[in-house]
Amino acid sequence: MTASPALRQADVPSLAHWIGGKRAPGTSGRFGDVWTPATGALGARVPLASAAEVARAVEVAKAAFPGWAATIPLQRARVMFRFKALLEQHASEIAATIAREHGKVLSDAAGELTRGIEIVEYACGAPQLLKSEFTENVGSGIDAYTLRQPLGVVAGITPFNFPAMVPMWMFPMALVCGNSFVLKPSERDPSTALTLAALLKEAGLPDGVFNVVNGDKEAVDALLLHPDVRAVSFVGSTPIARYIYTTGTAHGKRVQALGGAKNHAVVMPDADPEMVADALIGAAYGSAGERCMALSVSIFVGDRIADDVLGRIKAKIGKMKVGASDDRTAEMGPLVTAAHRDKVKGYIDTGVAEGAELVVDGRGLEVPGYADGYFVGPTLFDRVRPDMRIYTDEIFGPVLSTLRVGTYEEALQLVNAHEFGNGVAIFTRDGDTARDFATRVEIGMVGVNVPIPVPVAYHSFGGWKASLFGDHHIYGPESVRFYTRQKAVTQRWPSGIRAGAEFMMPTSK
Ligand code: NAD
Repeated sequence: MTASPALRQADVPSLAHWIGGKRAPGTSGRFGDVWTPATGALGARVPLASAAEVARAVEVAKAAFPGWAATIPLQRARVMFRFKALLEQHASEIAATIAREHGKVLSDAAGELTRGIEIVEYACGAPQLLKSEFTENVGSGIDAYTLRQPLGVVAGITPFNFPAMVPMWMFPMALVCGNSFVLKPSERDPSTALTLAALLKEAGLPDGVFNVVNGDKEAVDALLLHPDVRAVSFVGSTPIARYIYTTGTAHGKRVQALGGAKNHAVVMPDADPEMVADALIGAAYGSAGERCMALSVSIFVGDRIADDVLGRIKAKIGKMKVGASDDRTAEMGPLVTAAHRDKVKGYIDTGVAEGAELVVDGRGLEVPGYADGYFVGPTLFDRVRPDMRIYTDEIFGPVLSTLRVGTYEEALQLVNAHEFGNGVAIFTRDGDTARDFATRVEIGMVGVNVPIPVPVAYHSFGGWKASLFGDHHIYGPESVRFYTRQKAVTQRWPSGIRAGAEFMMPTSK
């Protein structure tokens, strides 16, 4: 997105990259505009890296790798302990930056930071996490053990919707595993990544081990094609995730690429209607629906529970406070850009044209004093059909689509037939139904009466189907496997038993 010359402000700050432990001004001559979603004002300009600037960051990371990989895991973990303390010390200013550039309200920005800090806490356990297996006497006088060694330079490419948490899904574990890291954050809200880089340095991370290159497709492609980048973690939309996975793996890299979502809530006739109504409005409209685990579809089994819950949701929407990101009384803020606001409004138009029943229309919402902000109010559709685009597509806005079915099996089939497989929730009081659902549903993360089942830091996060490309989920135990490679060592010593030259395949006989 480029501002018209009339909109440009001469005093808008220019951001930088972070290479070799310090800010590095952009040299490509290309810049992106960073907007303030609540006001519509231009907030900053971010340099968009050229392939040469990316190569410089990778070179610096490669040079820093051997020293960092040789640093004992306990010392790497101590950097994370100090980093965690610094994050807590600077939490309110980081949350304010997230809220300003992303648009989410302050309490939500603080929540995302807390979930990121929890991954840092997990990474503090690196010495324990990197312990390996040892077997004594696999043959006479022969022992075997496995090592988990770092990969080298690894890259992270992240989306706009969690500018602190999603980078921290990646780099704390990549670093404590002994890798050096190049982060390419979203160009829409890039300032938080630079703060994280400065705090890592203050925490004692050696220069060059963590770098930030700001940019767009050109920077991403440079990372995907660079021979010294060993692995890529990506989180973003499904078309780009698919591209990152195919391009990265074709160039010999280990890739985990997490994509988009369309998360369903299945509401059984025996569910607690007030609990469901609260769960749905929080999970559909929190962060203006710009969460990959937002609930954007509700499927009601039976009209009675549908009418009851939808009536409650409609009443609750009427009391919701939509406001500027720094309004501490607001529950929901604006969308990230004007283009995204227009796209979301376009989907609401489409839903009406497709014949869905628009119960609450957020298109006309006005927030007093913020006429130029990118606001769309909470929107509720009823009687949506599976062939409608508002059902098939990820809207990524505050739009909840409702379907009504007659049986549990119909609901399960709808969820399983959908292209995406990130998260899902079932609401019921019946343990048998919940257990059957958790077993048979083809979705990576399942909530039972829990609307946003994002796994905690010591479990791993990942979807199925078009929501994840690659073999590894992100953070938690899976991250140790993703960010290390295994080596098997079989050893014997001269004082052990020797049988002279052996020409047959060694066996344990
Ligand atoms: P996006 O795919 O547009 O961008 C993600 C990253 O890819 C950014 O760093 C961007 O610069 C880069 N990129 C964009 N276009 C590219 C191209 N053509 N070639 C190479 N790189 C490109 O996603 P977004 O709009 O920033 O984020 C929202 C999306 O992310 C939603 O689809 C959401 O569901 C998804 N998401 C998924 C998860 C998950 O865990 N599965 C988590 C958060 C967000």
